[in-house]
Amino acid sequence: MKIVSCFSRADEIAPLAEAGADELYCAVADIPSYGFGVLRGGLATAVTRAHRLGKKVSLAVNSMRLTYSRAQMLQFAGRLRQAAEHGVDAFIVASPAVFELFRELKEKVPAPVHLSSVQPCFNSGTARYFIRLGISRLILPSQVAPAEAAGILRECRAAGVETEIFDYRFFGCVYVNGRCNLHDPVFHTFTSGKEGDAMCRCGAGTAGRLEVRPADVAPARAALAPALARRLYTRMTCGGPPRLANAAAFFDFFRGGVDFLKYGTRRDPSGVKVRKVRELRALLDLAEALKASLPAAAARAEFIRRMSAWRGLEGGGR
Ligand SMILES: [Zn+2]
Repeated sequence: MKIVSCFSRADEIAPLAEAGADELYCAVADIPSYGFGVLRGGLATAVTRAHRLGKKVSLAVNSMRLTYSRAQMLQFAGRLRQAAEHGVDAFIVASPAVFELFRELKEKVPAPVHLSSVQPCFNSGTARYFIRLGISRLILPSQVAPAEAAGILRECRAAGVETEIFDYRFFGCVYVNGRCNLHDPVFHTFTSGKEGDAMCRCGAGTAGRLEVRPADVAPARAALAPALARRLYTRMTCGGPPRLANAAAFFDFFRGGVDFLKYGTRRDPSGVKVRKVRELRALLDLAEALKASLPAAAARAEFIRRMSAWRGLEGGGR
């Protein structure tokens, strides 16, 4: 399994590559994409720098809210052609209309197209639909469990289409990315306690800001209180990844042969991005080592045990 990391500045590329990123992706201001954090600086410079390190760059073109007139669509097509000329290796697409546009531009924009998780693929029928539209990679939404994804993975393997999942710790909406309007401040007036711009992540990355504390607990039950408070905190703040996405799910996807592991919080500061990619690398190293040294069931159990106790590389790691 290889690592795909987001970046938002050209000077992040070398440290991310050094931390273990095998591929990179970004978004740019003049092409609509999902989420926050566009590239500062020129795309051509960034792609050149990545290619010099032997890393491919994909570009997010995954907005679901394109309401272009014909003239605007032509301008959009021009910007895609320009990105391809700058050397972009692949485009991450969500809207079926944009797939159609790429089909029309095939000669001028020959770069492959990846299906974004923002247009979530929940079953093998959907996978077949997008495979027919010509994708070279399918990025799974975090809401699909490995067993549910088995049919999708089979379709992709048979068609020679690569597959990708998100790191379960560092990305994701508890609802469905691209469909969850709580990410967009246009839809709410809540201003404190949320992570970045996302209301659905309130408190998730800001331990201590929104608190759930046990109070007046009967002494005989005191031992139960901390775990209960943690569960309530997660429920009340929608904190953390979807409940399906955990160490067990990751290991099953890993064993199932998913090709790429993605980290995609583009608005993270540079230092945080590098630290998270190092964590992804360590996670993969652990999975590889356990797979190589233990029978399947024991490797899975040990992986879950180690990851449940994981407090990050800085926190003592493994
Ligand atoms: Zn959300």
